[in-house]
Amino acid sequence: MFKKITAFITAVISAAVLTACGGSDGTKDKVKIAYLPITHSLALLEEAEQLEQEQGVKVELVKFGSWTELMDALNTNQVDGASVLIELAMKSKQEGIGIKAVALGHHDGNVIVVNNNISSAADLKGRTFAIPHRQSSHHILLNDALATAGLTIDDVNVTELAPTEMPSALASGQIDGYCVAEPFGAMGVSLGAGKVLMNSEELWQDSICCGLVLTDKFINDRAADAKSFVESYKKAGNSLDKDEAMKVAKKYLSQTDDVLDISLRWISYNDLEITEDTYNTLAEKVKKYGLSDEPPAYSDFVKNDY
Ligand code: ZN
Repeated sequence: MFKKITAFITAVISAAVLTACGGSDGTKDKVKIAYLPITHSLALLEEAEQLEQEQGVKVELVKFGSWTELMDALNTNQVDGASVLIELAMKSKQEGIGIKAVALGHHDGNVIVVNNNISSAADLKGRTFAIPHRQSSHHILLNDALATAGLTIDDVNVTELAPTEMPSALASGQIDGYCVAEPFGAMGVSLGAGKVLMNSEELWQDSICCGLVLTDKFINDRAADAKSFVESYKKAGNSLDKDEAMKVAKKYLSQTDDVLDISLRWISYNDLEITEDTYNTLAEKVKKYGLSDEPPAYSDFVKNDY
């Protein structure tokens, strides 16, 4: 008897949930996308702005404070997608999570920031250098920077730090340099704590850093919404010139004009397609620098037919 009642209650709850999701309140049309408040996610934030004024798919932005929390939500289908460090998504895909990368987050937009006593990559030997996560293009860029001076990752002390802590850690001498998603590099420069040693494009042409990633569940269950979402996202990226980027960044990022002004000089958002060539270069670097032995193949992980 108890079992029957439980089954009945479950059925009623399921029906209620289905009604809520497909009801007339519009929730069915929403696309829930996770992000961190950084300049690398501005194409997504711009898209949300544009769609608010148009008909069709609506974006519900879900803000996170760390990559770990964001990946948790993505890996468990609590969101339909995310703007995220592509290496973290590659790792999840490798571990069997159903996700696909559908567009780039941005082009370039990363710098190696160092204290004012360091004047070359060779000076990094024996120093302490911070990155946000082992699975990041910041880790790759550090390896690339060291390689220009014939050094390897074993020649420096690498520490993982929260992006928001890096500028003050550099100012206090706790670290000698860092590479991280923007605008935290620009913040260190703006504070006078350090300077730019190298830009990402000097080290890695057409580098990939963040990607727009969608869950297979969303792609399969809501194919038309997914297509229209990705198309709008790319359109939003193409419309993000410096002035528009500044406007959106001011609204979402709570940073000073000076920090944003420095940071937005380093980044662009047009043509956000992930090409096979640029992805294969990324996958080679991921293997070469020990981030992963078996990064997912382009054909398994990148969906580029939108
Ligand atoms: Zn990025």
